[in-house]
Order: sequence, then structure tokens, then C-alpha cells
Amino acid sequence: AGRLAGKRCFVTAAGQGIGRASALAFAAEGGSVLATDRDAAKLEGLAAQGIETAALDVLDDAAVAAAIAAAGPLDVLFNCAGFVHQNTVESCTDAEWDFAFGLNVRSMWQTIRATLPGMIARGGGSIVNMSSACSSVKGAPNRFLYGTTKAAVIGMTKSVATEYVTRGIRCNCLCPGTVDTPSLEERIAANAAAAGGLDQARAAFVARQAMGRLATAEEMAALVVYLAAPDSTFVTGQAIVIDGGWTL
Ligand code: NAD
Repeated sequence: AGRLAGKRCFVTAAGQGIGRASALAFAAEGGSVLATDRDAAKLEGLAAQGIETAALDVLDDAAVAAAIAAAGPLDVLFNCAGFVHQNTVESCTDAEWDFAFGLNVRSMWQTIRATLPGMIARGGGSIVNMSSACSSVKGAPNRFLYGTTKAAVIGMTKSVATEYVTRGIRCNCLCPGTVDTPSLEERIAANAAAAGGLDQARAAFVARQAMGRLATAEEMAALVVYLAAPDSTFVTGQAIVIDGGWTL
């Protein structure tokens, strides 16, 4: 049996990137997985791996509550949904601010709040939130709003861990460096003109990593599984940096 045998696992933003890799890794460890994404088309292919799928926009509070209630009591919640704005304190717009805090922070409050009663009733659970090395851990150029929201995720993680530590519920977050995912390709494309080409824009992301390469989504999923599974029973409230040496 795998490390998540018998565990009910819920994943947001599981259509691509780290969320998808994590849903697949949960299933490979024997978990009973419900993979959700705003874009149902991106979930295609997961069912063939024994994963249940459902369309879910985490910005829709009522839909979040209904989806989590329908999933049944959860053992594992992985809050992966988030968006990376490339802006500065001066260029950030009001609309960007509201959108990023809604998606990157508020949606996690909603999913966690909906999940807790079931975890409390069952006497435990593991909540894993997606933060970033760009947060309270470190600053990064052109990541004003992103880093601000991801720092809030660390604060939320520690608060939830503190509140429920005596009830068997753990809450941790991961703080990745740069991971090769579809949305990273979009950020590279957006930077291409300023960088002098696509290759140069990509090289700038690679250069941030002391290891000289980007991470794979599977490398992130390995940490997500560790935090979700009983391997990490004594770990709570932590912001775990997984960044190829970016913060060295
Ligand atoms: P991605 O950005 O390529 O994909 C994001 C997924 O989220 C898509 O499938 C999209 O449909 C879904 N999504 C968007 N809005 C949604 C909503 N409102 N409700 C539900 N789903 C929604 O994936 P990624 O790059 O693996 O990023 C996933 C998470 O990891 C994000 O929180 C991101 O901030 C974080 N992260 C990524 C990196 C990186 O370098 N890629 C680094 C650190 C942290």
C-alpha cells in the first residue's frame, strides 16, 4: 500500500503544472483523489489514472463549499491555485491587487474553512498550501504583488497550524523556486521583448537557480506528498523552501 492509502485528497488547480503532478503523485501513493480546476478541459486524462475530477473555480465561495462537502471528509487538502503577476509597487493596479489577494490568499481561507469541520470530526488531517520562495522568504524583482500574497500564505499557514495543532491537523506550505510549468512559459513569453528574445528570457529564470536549471513539477509533488502523508506527522506550521539554491 502507498503512503496515502485510504486517504481522501482534494487538490485545487490540478489541471496543469504542480497541481496536476501532485494529484498524480497522490494517486500513485494510493490516495483517493479529487482533482479540481477552473478549466475542466485541463483535467482530461486524469480519470484514466483513477482520479476523480470536477470543475471548480476557487474564487466562487459557494462552489468551493459545495465541492468540499460533496467530496466527503478530507484527509488531505492541497491548495495549489495561484497567479503570478509581474509588477512593482508602482505599476500594480487596484484590479490586480484584488484579483491576486482573492485567488492567492482568500481562496485558501475558503477551502480551509470548508475542510476543517470534517478534519476535526475525523481527528486529523494535513493541509498543504502553495507559497513561494518569493514571499516573506525573499524578494524578487517585478514580483511586488506576488511576493506580498505569498507572504500572506505563510502567515495563514502558521495561524492554521497553531489553532489546530492539538486536534491532529497539520498545516504546512511549500516555497518553490522556479518550476517549469505552462504558466512559466507564459511569463517567459511576456518577458521576451525586454530580454532580447525568448531564449534570453528563459535564461534569466534559469540563472536565478544556483543549480543552473528549473525544477520539475514532479520535484514539487514529491514534497507535497511528504507533507500530506504520515511521513511528516511531526511537521506543522512550516514554510519549506524547495528552490534549487535560489535563496543560498
Ligand atoms: P500553472 O500556473 O501553470 O497552472 C495554474 C492552474 O490553475 C491552471 O490549470 C488554471 O486553470 C488553474 N486556475 C487558475 N485560476 C483558477 C481558479 N480561479 N480556480 C481554480 N483553478 C484555477 O501552474 P503552476 O505554475 O504549477 O503554479 C501552481 C501554483 O504554484 C501557483 O500557486 C503558483 O503561484 C505556485 N508557484 C509556481 C511556481 C513556478 O515557478 N511555476 C513557483 C512557485 C510557486
